[in-house]
Amino acid sequence: MYMNTKVIPVKLRVSDIKQYIYCPRVIYYQYVLPVERKITRKMEYGREEHLELDRLEKRRKLKRYGLADGKRCFHTHLYSPRLDLEGKLDMHIITDKGLFPVEFKHTGRRVSLNHKYQVAAYAMLLEDKYDTIVRFGFVYLHLRNEVIPVEITPGMRQYVRQVLNKINRIVTEQIMPEAPRRKNRCTDCEFRKFCGDVG
Ligand code: SF4
Repeated sequence: MYMNTKVIPVKLRVSDIKQYIYCPRVIYYQYVLPVERKITRKMEYGREEHLELDRLEKRRKLKRYGLADGKRCFHTHLYSPRLDLEGKLDMHIITDKGLFPVEFKHTGRRVSLNHKYQVAAYAMLLEDKYDTIVRFGFVYLHLRNEVIPVEITPGMRQYVRQVLNKINRIVTEQIMPEAPRRKNRCTDCEFRKFCGDVG
């Protein structure tokens, strides 16, 4: 059910980058033509899992990140006026070698591109907060018990900025993006009933 068509100025969130990479049309439903969304059991379960991950993480050693020691900070709200981007980072580690953002993912799948770009975006937010350069971050895949290092390359930074520009265009020009070529993404999508052209 469509709720309204009013477009308000938006401050973009790191999760928007993940959504855009999954399907740009999700951004349209998020900001241009908001639709009613239900909190699914999967979403609730995800929140509970995050709490459990925090609890476990506090007991673990930093060796799994290849670090001897450091201070862990959880759920830090970050905002960059330069990028006009905000987000709440699962964890970052402060060491004398630098800062490392960490995204927790409760998944049994391999690391995906959108996970990596989320880490890159958080790295850019940390850089603005601490006025430093962040060279690496991590994705922690809980169900696989794997820590995946992510190098924050110039190409990744550029791609994050490009995605932010494209999201801004979707919002300001109010144009519904094309559906993704990989239609298997539509199969489990919560917005499927609003997309009449995906079969
Ligand atoms: S159903 Fe397909 S086209 Fe529609 S928002 Fe979901 S992934 Fe995108």
